[in-house]
Formats: sequence, structure tokens, C-alpha cells
Amino acid sequence: MIERVVHILPEQIASQIAAGEVVERPASALKEMVENSLDAGARSISVEIEGGGARLLQVSDDGCGMGREDAVLSIRRHATSKIRDASDLFAIRTFGFRGEALASIASVSHTTMRTRRAADEHGVELTVSGGAVEHTRACAIAPGTRIEVRDLFFNTPARLKFLKTAATEQGAAAEALQRLALANPKVAFRMAADGRLLFDVPRAASALERMRQLFGARLADKMLEFELADAGGRAWGLAATSQESFATPRLVLTFVNHRPVRDRVLLRAIAQAYQTLLPRGRHPAVALFVELRPEDVDVNVHPMKTEVRFRRAGAVFELVYRALRTRLADQASEVATALPAAAAAGADDVSTAVVPAIAGNAGAGTAVQPAAPTRSISDQRDHLLRLVADAPAAHAMQTPLGLGYGRDAVTAQTSPPLAASRVPRYADLRVIGQIFAGFIALEGEDGLLLIDQHAAHERVTFEKLRGELRSGGIRVQAMLTPATMEFNPARAAQVLASLPELRALGFEVEPFGPATLVVKGAPAVFGAEGGVRLLGEMIESMGEDGFRNHGEAALEDCLKTLACHGSVRAGRTLEQREITELLAELDRTEFKTNCPHGRPVHIEFRRGQIERMFRR
Ligand code: ADP
Ligand code: MG
Repeated sequence: MIERVVHILPEQIASQIAAGEVVERPASALKEMVENSLDAGARSISVEIEGGGARLLQVSDDGCGMGREDAVLSIRRHATSKIRDASDLFAIRTFGFRGEALASIASVSHTTMRTRRAADEHGVELTVSGGAVEHTRACAIAPGTRIEVRDLFFNTPARLKFLKTAATEQGAAAEALQRLALANPKVAFRMAADGRLLFDVPRAASALERMRQLFGARLADKMLEFELADAGGRAWGLAATSQESFATPRLVLTFVNHRPVRDRVLLRAIAQAYQTLLPRGRHPAVALFVELRPEDVDVNVHPMKTEVRFRRAGAVFELVYRALRTRLADQASEVATALPAAAAAGADDVSTAVVPAIAGNAGAGTAVQPAAPTRSISDQRDHLLRLVADAPAAHAMQTPLGLGYGRDAVTAQTSPPLAASRVPRYADLRVIGQIFAGFIALEGEDGLLLIDQHAAHERVTFEKLRGELRSGGIRVQAMLTPATMEFNPARAAQVLASLPELRALGFEVEPFGPATLVVKGAPAVFGAEGGVRLLGEMIESMGEDGFRNHGEAALEDCLKTLACHGSVRAGRTLEQREITELLAELDRTEFKTNCPHGRPVHIEFRRGQIERMFRR
């Protein structure tokens, strides 16, 4: 009568369910496989992927390998060589310990494993499909392990649907591998995608050297080494000087006991250490390594092991904050010595532009509290001067890039719907001066006006660019000597896919090697010299999906970003002449009351309002 309804699921189905937690996308499967290689003592790890990793993920290592029985067991759930009992959970020194990664991956793919211990005569080959072992046989292979995962999620269509484009998945996989490579500099890493090499880094002596291998000398040369140890642990790593800042937190990399993690305590400590040193909304580049006694960190709080729990979170915060803050407070001397090398290496305008800002601090000696952000002052001034003088017109090439964007858009843009009486001609007002290095104070007919210099310049630049775009294409100014720009090879597919948009924005760029662009021209409105920096900012501010939507609306979004990065920032002192020129430009510009993001360009305090405040 009473039917039994509860039953234990077959192991294969249980694995598929668990797979949902452990492997969410190709990048997470890759991370698990590479962590296994590291746990196996590999000195060299090679990764190949196809189709963003969904079609193929292959990891080869020269680690300890496995015998036949171990290989067969390794793809079973809860099969691990790394812990024996629960007490081991309190002192984990390996990446893996849950014994479920291989089982999960094998249950949602066609997996072939070839593995051999050095002492064995030959290796063993194991093929598994959807979790079911198909065959095991002897094979010839060098000592180590090679695991090939094909058609990830072939039997879990719901999971497959959630994958993004191949370029995006490839980027995520490459970034996951870069994080592991950074944490393990003594191991060589190589990665290829669809037959193209993304990076190939030999064994390195230090994290700094690895940073240089992975992200290029330009960034590595601007990084400061920091270290602080106390009774609770040690925090060390590399932190970019506060002259560098980035549009996304992508280069904030945090590790606990060499495990890449994303942790709120650490991120907050980093953000606070950089507080007031970076412009609002910008992020530093930091590689932070925190080393704690294994019993002081719980790594078993997340199936993907990307989160941890600290036994004494407050102490960890304090340690990281102090380590970074002390180093950042005293960065002048270090950077100054790094500069000649950078200059000799043919560094572009970015590094030369920071010289004056740093030279100002250099003599100060001990722990100077750096003042408000002074970003590349001469650089910005040049931009503004060039802009207001409209100098490039003379030698600018008229290059209609015409992707067809806006070709037939409304060129006869009617006057903006402004209540003419309410918007003054700024140039007619008396300039009182600049305040807080960010606002221009003007005396109006019947009130006091404050103009936000960045918003104003941003609108001027944006409208110029938009006008050019509509009348055939953004004007490109050729650079006297083409410059090269490196980008993170992990994002190669996205960057290359975005070249048409970048060209439409006025950057004359050609791919050159796997992670380098040759820049031959830049939007004339900014002058060519700042082009490389601007291009870097544009690439950096690209979302995970690149410039995903095509069409004019998307391109205008890009124009906003471009105008923003290219415009004079708050925090810069303007000369009287620059102020009058900016105001005149602004008066010639449509939509001059707001910046392209919609923030007001000016606010007004009416005379009556002021008088009332003084109880007159
Ligand atoms: P865990 O890493 O948590 O132990 P996995 O499912 O990731 O669980 O791996 C199961 C076991 O398979 C590991 O404990 C290890 O003994 C073995 N193994 C996996 N990958 C490799 C490899 N590349 N080289 C040697 N042994 C491996
Ligand atoms: Mg593992």
C-alpha cells in the first residue's frame, strides 16, 4: 500500500547536479584542472582551448601522474588523494580537497585522460562520456597528465544556454589561468585558443617578473613591491602607483595562501588604502598575496573555492590596509628611480607625462601624504590647448572611416529645445576665477554661476566627435611615428573583434602579434600624442562583452566614454586663457547645459537667493 518515494540518486546524476556548483562555465572547469596539475607538482602546464572552451579544454602537465587504479578512481565523486579525515579540513595546503571536480567535469562532457607516473613503463588512457567510463587501456605518454574535455555541458542544455559568446568565455578562461600563473611564478604556463598562442611564460623568479611576463613591462614598471608581516600573517605583493588608474577592477587580483579568491574584506582594505589617491570610480592594479596559517582560513565555504572565511577578519583587514597604505604613502622615491628605465625603453607619453607630477614630490623624502590626484597634468593641458586652438585642422587627414554609422542620420539637427532666456552665453559673463581646481566661477546678470570644467569640456568634445561622425567619420590625426600598445592577451579575441568599432572611433590601429596593436592615428580632436593612452582607456573600459551592440546608439555610448577620457579632469588648474577659450567653445556647442552623461554643466545661485541667505 505505502509506496516508497524517496531514493538515493545514482552517482552519475548526483555528479551532474554537483557539476552545476563546481563548473559554471569553461573558465571554472579550466581552473579546477589546472589546480590539479599544480597540486600534482607540475613545473610546466600547457592549455589549449577551442570555441571559448566549450568545444575543447585541454590541460597537459608534467606532474606526478597517476597509476591505473588511481586514474579510474579520480573521476569518482569524493575521490581525493589530498585529505583523509575531517581534521585535515582545518589545515589545507593543496588547491583541491573536495574530490568532486574531475567527477563533475567528466559527468557533463566527453573526457579523455592520459596519465603516467614517472616510474611506470607506460601510461593509462581513460575515456568517460557523461560520467560513464567507456574504456581504459594502456597508452604511450611522457610522465604527467593530459586531460581533454570535449563538448562541455553537452548533456545539460540548460547550463549550455547560459554560456556567453566564445570570445567572452575565452577571455574568462584566459584570465582565470593568468590568476593562477601569477600566484605560481615558478611554474611555466602556456595557453593557446583556437590554435593561436595567447601567452607562453617561462618559469619566473618572482611575482614581479611574472607580472611583467603576463601584463607587459609598461604596467610592471609602475608597480611598487610591498610587504608587511605581523603575528597573524603576511601581506605582500605589487601595487600600481597612484598615478595609474583603471576603468575596471579587473587588475585587482587577490590571493589567500596562493589561492585566487574574491573576498570583500581584502577588496575593501585595498580600496581604503587607495582612498583619495585615485579619481572617483577608478581602480588600481594590485596583486595582493595574503599568507595565513591554514587553520586561520576556512577555504571550504564555496564549491568553487573562490571565497574564503577568515578566523580574524578584522586583523586581516588591518594587515592588508597597513601594508598597502604605508607603501603608497612613500611611493615618490621608488617611482622616480623607475622612470629613466621606462623612458629608455621608449615609453610613450604616459610615463613622460607623469614626470612633473612626481618630480614635485621627489625631494620630500620620508612618508609624504600624497596630495589630491594630479593625473598627467601636462598631458591634459596639451589636450585642452590643442582642442581650443583647433590646431590639428592644419595637418589632420580627413579620413572618412565610414562604417555607415549615422550617414543618413539627421544632419540638420534642429536647435536644442532650450529655453533661450535661461541659458546664458557663458563668454559674456565676467570670469571670477577657478575654484577647487574643478569649477569656474562666473558673475551673471542676476546671479553666480559655477561651471563644472570636466562636464563642460566633455560636452564640447562629445559634440565635436558626434558632428564628425555624422559628416562622414571621425577625423584622424596621423601620428608622426606609429606607436605600439600592448593589451592583456587574455582579452585578445575581444580586442580584435572590436577593431572595427575602434577604427570608427578614430583610432587607426592594426593588430601586431598576439597582444599588441600598432597605433598609427588617433582622433584628431585630442591630438595624436595622447592617442595611445586614450586607446588603452577605451579598451580597458570595454565591458566583458566588448562593444557588443552595433549601430549608432552603441557607438554614441562609446563616444561618451571617449569624450570623458579625453577631457580635462577636475583637479587641474586652468589658466585664464584656457578658461575663456573653453567658455567660447561651450557657447558654440549644442546641448551645452549638460555633459553627455546628463550631469549639469552649470549651476546657478540667484542673487536674491544669496541675499536672502545673508538676511538682507
Ligand atoms: P581534488 O582535487 O579535490 O582532490 P579532483 O576531482 O579535482 O579532486 O581530483 C581527484 C584526484 O585526482 C586528485 O586528488 C588527484 O589525486 C587526482 N588528479 C587529478 N588531476 C591530476 C593531475 N593532473 N595529476 C595527478 N593527479 C591528478
Ligand atoms: Mg581538484
